[in-house]
Amino acid sequence: MTTPASSAIRIDPATGQKSFATRAAPASDRIVGKGYSVPTEASLTTLPEPPPGAVFNAEEQAKYRAFKEARRGAADYMAMEGEFARYLDDVYSAPPVPREALADECEIVVVGAGLAGLLLWHKLRGAGFSDVRFCEKGGDVGGTWYWNRYPGIACDVEAYSYLPLLEEMEYIPSMKFASGFEILEYCQRMAEKFGFYERCVFHTTVLETVWDEASGRWTVITDRGDRMRARFVILANGILTSPKLARIEGMSTFRGNSFHTSRWDYRVDLTGKVVGIIGTGATAVQVIPEIARVVKELYVFQRTPSSIDVRDQRATTEEEYKSWPNEPGWARARRARFAKISNGRTAIQGNDDYLAGRVPDFKERKQYERELSMEELIEKQLDTNFRIMEQVRARVDAIVKDPRTAAALKPYYPWGCKRPTFHDEFLPTFNLPHVHLVDTAPRGVQRINENGVVHDGVEYALDVLIYATGFEWMATSTFNMIRGRDGRTLREKWATDGTKTFLGLHSAGFPNLFIVSGPQGGGGSFNFTDAIDAHADYIVWMLETMRSRGARVVDVRPEPELEYAEHCRQADVATAALRDCLSYYNGHGEAEPGSLAYYGGNRWHKYRREAQESLAPYLFD
Ligand SMILES: Cc1cc2nc3c(=O)[nH]c(=O)nc-3n(C[C@H](O)[C@H](O)[C@H](O)COP(=O)(O)OP(=O)(O)OC[C@H]3O[C@@H](n4cnc5c(N)ncnc54)[C@H](O)[C@@H]3O)c2cc1C
Repeated sequence: MTTPASSAIRIDPATGQKSFATRAAPASDRIVGKGYSVPTEASLTTLPEPPPGAVFNAEEQAKYRAFKEARRGAADYMAMEGEFARYLDDVYSAPPVPREALADECEIVVVGAGLAGLLLWHKLRGAGFSDVRFCEKGGDVGGTWYWNRYPGIACDVEAYSYLPLLEEMEYIPSMKFASGFEILEYCQRMAEKFGFYERCVFHTTVLETVWDEASGRWTVITDRGDRMRARFVILANGILTSPKLARIEGMSTFRGNSFHTSRWDYRVDLTGKVVGIIGTGATAVQVIPEIARVVKELYVFQRTPSSIDVRDQRATTEEEYKSWPNEPGWARARRARFAKISNGRTAIQGNDDYLAGRVPDFKERKQYERELSMEELIEKQLDTNFRIMEQVRARVDAIVKDPRTAAALKPYYPWGCKRPTFHDEFLPTFNLPHVHLVDTAPRGVQRINENGVVHDGVEYALDVLIYATGFEWMATSTFNMIRGRDGRTLREKWATDGTKTFLGLHSAGFPNLFIVSGPQGGGGSFNFTDAIDAHADYIVWMLETMRSRGARVVDVRPEPELEYAEHCRQADVATAALRDCLSYYNGHGEAEPGSLAYYGGNRWHKYRREAQESLAPYLFD
């Protein structure tokens, strides 16, 4: 029996509305660019044609290799601990609401209140599972969109396909690439509408989750002194949740203000300041055009350039606002079409026609005289990717006026190997006289001192230093604290035996535990909410199956787990040429094949379907 976490909830006596007093703190209007400007110049919104005859020949391959090898070992990241722990402070919420520790029992505890948590709740509730509690480290829902509030933040999968449950919510995003602020508000609306706030304890970090064989329950221990017991635990703790810092000599000596982009500190006014930003990944690409509007000088410290594709941002049209509500299932159909785009260049023009169902495909399909082998297909894909990168590089030359800056901004690695980015204002920003690219290739920034950044003997004195150094990928500390049947943590199991899961959702020896979007978890495309959707559906199916069988405990057999892990390894190895660079996707070249993301495509669904039909992989008790 669950006692409501009532002492954690503040109830407004006037309206009766429940909340945790931790809603989004207002951000300064001066600096909050919503990334909503819509460029109209064709040169910014179209990619130049690739040079005629561009092929990925031996010379180009050698260039890519040299680019990669020069950077090997340069990615040295550190956790935000000790004196750097302050970079993790929740700068968005009021202090935690005092509450009593919880020592009760519920059927399901979910870790995380991001889009995965919200979607899970919607589906669990719909299937009649109501005894569910969510634990969330932050002060509100949203996850990624709660923590990341930097100027210019927007999704880079189109919002009409990215945001789940648009029909149920009767909501249409205002822009094709909706601002993170709009997405956060959308999450809050979902939470209100589905009664999520009553189910979630915020400012509550799960520290340890321990399986008790005798009672068939997990004990969930949190930093608020809770010791809840639960039959099931679902990890919905995200894939890009733990921010990381590049390890740079002298970091702690800097006297100015500094913060990480995932905890944007709006108390620091950047207007008229000399600002440095370290990193040029997906976040920095969105931030830089926005802060360039207000700062006095901006120094961008780049080790490896991103590929900057066309974004072609646009507002939702009047026509769409009018017609979509009259087309039942419009968003679901669009998401399904989006999931079929396998080459990932989501921003290319023409997709709107395909996504809206006006044309049957997003590209012309080539017909080959015979079926091509996997190697041949990969070779063709590498050539295609090379031509895309040639276009991306030509775009840099077409936009950036200073030839040295343009040269430094050109990426040399297979398209999609590092996270592809999309923006129409990033490159023009480097034509502004007060914006300076400091090329720190190939090893990165050398030193930080009390005044700012020192590189190649030059000191860049700064008022504010911003770390846009990204996140750990698929490596949240959460896996460190799940103790299964034999007392080992999930991390210990994977470190000793290699990463082993079934469908990315179960791991043998960890009964009644489900992992959403973890290592080896397929089921979706680049649209992460697609995978989350598939995982949530699977979990609900499993809970219903157990309910109908009267089963209390589910684990997976070691053999199917081994087979699935081997499939993940092989899929990773077979497609490795497409990711021949150093990237967080492959643990900067250090990850064991098959231990992180899933590269087996639709075969995840095949494994899932077969398992659901036969139930052979499962041990029910
Ligand atoms: C800046 C940025 C932009 C992105 N843009 C896109 C995009 O355009 N398209 C796309 O498909 N994906 C994008 N992603 C990936 C994005 O993370 C996913 O799309 C999605 O939001 C993940 O949702 P989630 O609920 O699984 O995880 P998250 O949103 O990460 O939520 C997980 C939650 O779990 C909480 N948590 C973690 N550990 C604990 C613990 N021990 N105890 C309690 N709580 C815990 C965290 O505080 C967090 O709130 C982006 C990611 C980032 C960082």
